[in-house]
Amino acid sequence: MSSNTAKHPAQSPIENYLKALHARHAALDDGEVADYIPELANANAHWFGISLATRDGHVYEVGDTRQTFTIQSISKALAYGLALEDRGEDFILSRISVEPSGDAFNAISLKAESGAPFNPMINAGAIATCGQIQKRDGRSRIERILAYLSACAGRPLSIDQAVYRSESDTGHRNRAIGWMLRNFGIIDEEPTEILETYFQQCAIQVNCRDLAVIAATLANHGRNPLTHEQAIAPEYVENILSVMASCGMYDFSGEWLYHIGLPAKSGVGGGVLAALPGQLGIGVFSPPLDAQGNSARGIRVCTDLSHDLSLHLFANGPQLPASIRLSYDASQVASRRQRAPEARQVLLSSGHRIRLLELQGELNFVTTETVIRAALKQAPYCQYLILNCRNVASLDDVTRKLFEELKDSLENQGVQLHLCPASRLLALAPAIAKLPLHADDDAALEYCENQLLAELIGPDWDQAPPVEIGNTHLLRGLPADDLAWLAREMPTHDAASGECIIEAGDNAESLFLLLSGTVEVRLPEPSGKSGKRVGVFVAGMSFGEMGLIDGAPRSAHVLAHTPVVYRVIDRALFDRLETERPKLKIRLLERLACQISDNLRRSNREIAAFKN
Ligand code: GLN
Repeated sequence: MSSNTAKHPAQSPIENYLKALHARHAALDDGEVADYIPELANANAHWFGISLATRDGHVYEVGDTRQTFTIQSISKALAYGLALEDRGEDFILSRISVEPSGDAFNAISLKAESGAPFNPMINAGAIATCGQIQKRDGRSRIERILAYLSACAGRPLSIDQAVYRSESDTGHRNRAIGWMLRNFGIIDEEPTEILETYFQQCAIQVNCRDLAVIAATLANHGRNPLTHEQAIAPEYVENILSVMASCGMYDFSGEWLYHIGLPAKSGVGGGVLAALPGQLGIGVFSPPLDAQGNSARGIRVCTDLSHDLSLHLFANGPQLPASIRLSYDASQVASRRQRAPEARQVLLSSGHRIRLLELQGELNFVTTETVIRAALKQAPYCQYLILNCRNVASLDDVTRKLFEELKDSLENQGVQLHLCPASRLLALAPAIAKLPLHADDDAALEYCENQLLAELIGPDWDQAPPVEIGNTHLLRGLPADDLAWLAREMPTHDAASGECIIEAGDNAESLFLLLSGTVEVRLPEPSGKSGKRVGVFVAGMSFGEMGLIDGAPRSAHVLAHTPVVYRVIDRALFDRLETERPKLKIRLLERLACQISDNLRRSNREIAAFKN
């Protein structure tokens, strides 16, 4: 097979599973298509779709997942979210309770004293909820509901006018409920218009795929995983999922939670929506309903999904991985800043005073507690503690506050707390800006190393004054005549700050001896520009030796960080040494071998630290 012919994509075991699940239940003929709203009776009893949407926006679809139908009661869960956003939790709770009623969806059941509907998932509560949604910015209630649901589905939805008319013509029982609500002051205006809005809300057209996406939006803290829009205010997602869990399946809710264990909502159009918080969304569509008004196939499919995929909320709780992935100190892994030999020695012997913990996964109270304990255990032995959060997936407000308090208590013990990488942390928890943040672990390490070196060597530790070639690390101690010869033969160059000395991809022909100033080594970005810093060299150091030896193209850019002066040993000069100064060549090769073995030792130390 030629390299550019792709093979057939491999079968997904997840798709295979969903197809088998669909096939298993397709033959079922339990239940009746709803006909109390005459237009609903036109649905085909064989329509059957299953969709599963992941938190990162992948949607699996089997069967009639693009067949539209009316959302009906599933809209109640979302309208409840909009009402909460409009009025706040206290107000909504003062009008609509959250107690499972054990009654049918259309029961005329209101609490005896207050007249408050038992919960927002039965019709009484849903009509009351609809009445709390505000008309705003020149938009009617139904326009706002439609926009809200469209954001949840990630596409513009519309109303099935025939179903709406049909329900409006026959919905006398709901009208009776509306007048009761008005009587008890649960709604503040005559119910007529609210009821029309409610009927329209129930007649919004969706498909099975939409249900899975809406469910995944609920599972994803209200953010639509396809469009990334924050469709539902995150602070109310918990309220919505709670009433779905306790009341979403009407008088079957207790059994549903017991056997299936997922917050869910069904509608008489045949849809079922179920969400596993933080994880995924499920949509099932099949019009025949059981005695409670829930899709008969929908219940079967969700039962199997919950058992087969172990989705029950209480079955296994979140199994959080260890939050500390690695722990090492700066004597094992130092920053990419190349240090003069004295500073390097100090970091090798005292680098243990800088401790780095690499964290991972979801940081919440339970996972952060282990981080706090580890940090306190390290505190007596270090002066700097760096928390590298590169692999942290989420960081909640509890964790942010615990980190702030940890900083204070470490400070009392003379330990500084530092965090990185800044951009990731700020994206996860903007309020974390109060803590000392660094661009990445290298920047954090360098910052702490610099402070440690200043403390241990003195204020001048960082001085790298211009040097003669005889004082460079590579040539120090060579016989005077060798140095004089090299001084004559090695050309001198300079570069302005920001200028490129080596470009990634260049042929490597020379070794560079830095006599004054600082250079930075940066990895090339895909765009060709210079990206992450991987090294810093100061006056007295040399670079480019690997290229001189193996001739492989340069793998990184080297840029002058300050104005620099450097000298160069190129391949031609190196070759000439063989005949003109063979002893010098041997000495140079020995020095270079030492430098390379030094680097290799350092890499081995790092690998050992990363393996523990
Ligand atoms: N519009 C329908 C009604 O009020 C919604 C009921 C439902 O889906 N359970 O009767």
